[in-house]
Amino acid sequence: MQAIKDASQLAAGTGLIDSFARSITYLRLSLTDQCNLRCRYCTPGAGQKLRRAALLRYEELLRFVRIAVDLGVRKVRLTGGEPLLRHEVLPFVTDLAAVPGLADIRITTNGVLLEQCAEGLYAAGIRKLNISLDTLQPERYREITGADLFSQVWRGIERAQELGFEKIKLNVVALRGVNDDEFIDLARLTLTRPWQVRFIEFMPVGGAAVWDRSRYISSAEIMERLGALGELVPAADSGINGPARLYRLPGSLGSLGFISPISNHFCDRCNRLRLTAEGMLRSCLLSDQQTDLKTILRDGGDDEAIRRAILEAIRHKPKGHALKPGEVGDCHGRMSRIGG
Ligand code: SAM
Repeated sequence: MQAIKDASQLAAGTGLIDSFARSITYLRLSLTDQCNLRCRYCTPGAGQKLRRAALLRYEELLRFVRIAVDLGVRKVRLTGGEPLLRHEVLPFVTDLAAVPGLADIRITTNGVLLEQCAEGLYAAGIRKLNISLDTLQPERYREITGADLFSQVWRGIERAQELGFEKIKLNVVALRGVNDDEFIDLARLTLTRPWQVRFIEFMPVGGAAVWDRSRYISSAEIMERLGALGELVPAADSGINGPARLYRLPGSLGSLGFISPISNHFCDRCNRLRLTAEGMLRSCLLSDQQTDLKTILRDGGDDEAIRRAILEAIRHKPKGHALKPGEVGDCHGRMSRIGG
């Protein structure tokens, strides 16, 4: 496969291929930098919020997505900050679902507003949800997130299941001394529910860098601990499910995922492009290299200028990142603003 050098080389169906022959099909949109939680590993302080005018408007996002889909993007994930906090998000999702060629729209949420939004999301066409939940203990939830909202989030997850969402994935950031005594309980959820519980290695990025780095636990260690529940059997779709390596517990309805950005980089399979809440196009979470898309959009840039910006960002997509346990990446942006 040839790397694309400019827009004129994009024949129909060629798709977006970066300099390392990776096919870029997946766009992560951060809808807002604001969040209704203050997870200690993500947004430790209140921080400075972007002004509303600094956020890309929905019509700008839709224009960008249409062009990205024309170029080869097939999947969009809405994230943030907390995407469900963004004003009028449900009509936006409906408009997004109408973009021709966009087959797959997903959302990553902390679940705080899920109970009230689940039905609207389902009606808008979303079938796959990632919900962040690091603990099953209400008091611990409050300590980690700064909000006493465990039960509300749990009700949201159950509501989503009732409505029939096809895929419910629970994202657990693995933190030594914080929630590692709950890995077994969290994994056990998959015995009785068709959910995917995903353990994510703690990344020392952005706001997280101020937190204690000794919290990191590798996926290998988590898997070893889960061995107490029986042999972890590789799931049939393991390896093709984005960054997660998938396993099942014997007799389980759901699956377990292990996401190892530190111990087992998945950069060689990375198919992602990101748009930050303030309109910066980034090709790697862990690199500060970015293209100012908002200025192009607001200075009257035509579709060709936007196409060029996308190709430029993809051309500069780094081969990989070099984060190791305990190191701080060269990513100084906060997760909430870039879109985790
Ligand atoms: N507010 C939404 C949520 O909570 O799911 C979306 C944004 S949040 C930044 C996206 C994901 O990034 C969450 O699953 C969160 O746990 C994860 N995350 C944040 N900081 C992280 C870190 N330092 N290491 C690993 N994962 C992190």
